[in-house]
Amino acid sequence: MKIHEYQAKEILQKYGVVTPKGIACFSVDEAVSAAQQLGGKVWVVKAQIYAGGRGKGGGVKVAKSLDEVRQRASEILNMRLVTHQTGPEGQIVHRLFIEQGVPIEKEFYVGMVVDRSRQRVCLITSSEGGMEIEKVAAETPEKIHKVYVDPIAGLSQQQAVEATQKIGIPAQNLPQAVTLLQSLYEAFDESDASLLEINPLTLTAEQQVMALDAKMNFDDNALFRHPEIVALRDLDEEDPLEIEASKHELSYISLDGNIGCLVNGAGLAMATMDIIKLYGGNPANFLDVGGGATAEKVTEAFKLMLSNPKLQAILVNIFGGIMKCDVIAQGIVMAARDVHLAVPLIVRLEGTHVEIGKKILADSGLPIISADNMADAAQKAVNATKAKSSSPQS
Ligand code: GDP
Ligand code: MN
Repeated sequence: MKIHEYQAKEILQKYGVVTPKGIACFSVDEAVSAAQQLGGKVWVVKAQIYAGGRGKGGGVKVAKSLDEVRQRASEILNMRLVTHQTGPEGQIVHRLFIEQGVPIEKEFYVGMVVDRSRQRVCLITSSEGGMEIEKVAAETPEKIHKVYVDPIAGLSQQQAVEATQKIGIPAQNLPQAVTLLQSLYEAFDESDASLLEINPLTLTAEQQVMALDAKMNFDDNALFRHPEIVALRDLDEEDPLEIEASKHELSYISLDGNIGCLVNGAGLAMATMDIIKLYGGNPANFLDVGGGATAEKVTEAFKLMLSNPKLQAILVNIFGGIMKCDVIAQGIVMAARDVHLAVPLIVRLEGTHVEIGKKILADSGLPIISADNMADAAQKAVNATKAKSSSPQS
């Protein structure tokens, strides 16, 4: 789960991390009164979306008067902000964060992620703050420093000193930076975060070490322990189909192709998407209905896929293990009737009671295209989309 920058900063402040003073706003008038309330002479108007790279995309602007705050806020609010993380379709800005402007002396990078292979949190620091860290890692990997944290001991003083010294934080600011890193780690650990990024971590002209930006993601599997984090969820930022899917406990991810995939098991779902690609097609989604897919769940899954206007065919690929093929076939027939299916439906069944399952499909009277194996299924699905896109529009 992701949250907004201003929410991440509120969490971090509780751990003693210093950030500029700021107020979240939903309108231009609110933005102006927020700037008034914050005081000072310089403010930063920041778009709040679940993606980084906002600065480059025009979503972060410095304002030097209240009039300018009004102007910048009205430009940014409701804009379609496109960054390297949003994809070309961008993300509409519904919230702003107004912060006191801070004079920057130097910018650094600090990140924390869970390194699954080492089973440790990896603390990443770099002298190259403020820019795309992906670029720094690709072009000048020697400027990226990594420290792996022991989960029992936590981030030690010595590790924090090493991480800050390596990136050239001046000696007099070292104690402040070390405390900040340890606070960040504590926040990461206690909130079950999966990612925490401060880019830039700044040294201000007043020699204060400050988190100027903050990004936090959380481990979905640990959210049951954190109702206070779940409460921060902003549905405006999420894909409506993915929200709907999560209500029915379906693992669904929207993709930009035209072949809907309904599969049981994440591994099989990945393999299905791969084989569609192999035959020159593009999956419209990843969808794992899980091991215990009921007819109702299959119906919900069909509805989800069909609400995508790009959809041109559906490929059902089910391995009947615990779940028997005849039960699945009954579910497919029910669902197809229920949603008045108007796109070609290709079904590949394998496993327990497969012959009974195939007979149910054949006897249903529905125009179901039966496939014998995955390759056959993928080819038939790709052909169905080609036939569909070349047929004249009625
Ligand atoms: P991002 O582009 O989404 O990562 O958004 P950031 O919060 O990192 O803002 C982009 C850039 O705006 C930062 O790297 C800073 O250089 C600049 N910036 C943000 N806040 C301030 C501020 O208070 N003062 C100044 N001078 N620059 C700022
Ligand atoms: Mn940033």
